[in-house]
Amino acid sequence: MAEAPAWARALVLAVCAEADAPTPRLTWRHHDRPMSSGVTRRHSASISVVAGSDPMDQRLTLLHELAHWLAPVAHRRGGRVAHHNAAFYDVAFGLYRRHGVPDAFALAAESARYASSLTHARRLEVPGAEQAWHDRRASLHERARRRRPMRVLVEEHRVRLIRDGRWTRCAVCGIRIVGPLLRRWRRRPGRHVLLGAA
Ligand SMILES: [Zn+2]
Ligand SMILES: [Zn+2]
Repeated sequence: MAEAPAWARALVLAVCAEADAPTPRLTWRHHDRPMSSGVTRRHSASISVVAGSDPMDQRLTLLHELAHWLAPVAHRRGGRVAHHNAAFYDVAFGLYRRHGVPDAFALAAESARYASSLTHARRLEVPGAEQAWHDRRASLHERARRRRPMRVLVEEHRVRLIRDGRWTRCAVCGIRIVGPLLRRWRRRPGRHVLLGAA
């Protein structure tokens, strides 16, 4: 386990001071892949980051987890915790803005992971979100003409599934794989490319 870098520890302190919130413990590991991932555990008051190689994505990932730390906990019907809801994104996009993540990067990184983030970004009037939201809608409605320039976050590669706690990720890009894709790729690993809005 590597020690968290000084900038990350300073960021945790700054964000928690700003929100007048207690400070979670921060654990930090490095992984040889571009994208970072993180987990926030409220019961043990900790944030764990697996840092990829992209520095801005590290910053965004830590702020994303801090937003989980600070956002009010909401429950869906049936008792499941709603993680990436409006209250969460109110906090998250505010943190990105105040703590050095450019709007375009935040939109691309969030929408690559959670498509619904664009709806919240649009409501919050994040610059570029309106366009990105319309682009996404248009692309969903006109798959055949989906030829807009997209930013390639991770080049095309063969998916390699690994367990990460109760989740499954692609070991190459770090993205979490769920649902029908996971079932399909368990039977027969395919290839994918990670895209975000240009
Ligand atoms: Zn999250
Ligand atoms: Zn991958």
